[in-house]
Amino acid sequence: MLTITWDEDTCFHSGDCCSLLPKVFKEENEKIVIDASQATEDAIRDAVGRCPSGALKVEG
Ligand code: SF4
Repeated sequence: MLTITWDEDTCFHSGDCCSLLPKVFKEENEKIVIDASQATEDAIRDAVGRCPSGALKVEG
């Protein structure tokens, strides 16, 4: 399973990740909570690549 990091200081809360993969990316109390078990690695990499701020990164 992929490890995804989210940078709180970089994210500007566009909501793109949550709209694309709502089971993986959830906004709770202004933080993005990530459950990478809920989609394929390809789908998650695609969503990370579409983050307009660069706050999401795939580790490893
Ligand atoms: S897509 Fe990127 S900038 Fe938008 S809410 Fe998600 S992490 Fe934040």
